[in-house]
Amino acid sequence: MRELVRVRGLLLAMALVGAGFALILSVGFALNGPDSSRVDSLIAPSAVIVVLSAIGLVLHIGAAKRAAVPARASRPLDSPVLPPPSPDQLAYAADPMMLGTCVHLQPIERDMRLAGVGTQLSYGQVVFADCLIDLPVLRQRYRIAEPVFYTDSIPGDHPGEPDGAMLGCRAHRSSIGVTPPTSVPPGTPVFPA
Ligand SMILES: [Zn+2]
Repeated sequence: MRELVRVRGLLLAMALVGAGFALILSVGFALNGPDSSRVDSLIAPSAVIVVLSAIGLVLHIGAAKRAAVPARASRPLDSPVLPPPSPDQLAYAADPMMLGTCVHLQPIERDMRLAGVGTQLSYGQVVFADCLIDLPVLRQRYRIAEPVFYTDSIPGDHPGEPDGAMLGCRAHRSSIGVTPPTSVPPGTPVFPA
């Protein structure tokens, strides 16, 4: 649509310039040429083309402006649109003592937050923690037994995506999503330290 509008504008501008040249030449011939009767007949059609082209160009500019507005407002389909944080998420981010998980996972979540691990409340009793789990140390310090479990083999959403990792509670559908050991960004803290 925008391409069509652009081409139409270009053609109109070319017609306007061409007709304008013809009109100027015609007037020049009429004023100076010896055979003025033949040249006079060119002035009227040239003038008509100039006027029509000028009107067309004005209309085209209006159409191009109207076409440009929605094109600029539309968003590329592949750009992710993140919802704004909920009041619960904002409260969680503001208060490092606030806990989002169930009673079984809260001791771990509390210690993660106290240790300065980056944490976000996702939804319900689901939290994300920006850390790699040291499973042997975790098992020494916390009770990792039913209904609490750790897994680092949650299939990714897309082909080629690394498996996800989390601490979960089967009784309360609560979890702490953590960094999977197969893809650890530089600087990721280890928990427990
Ligand atoms: Zn639980």
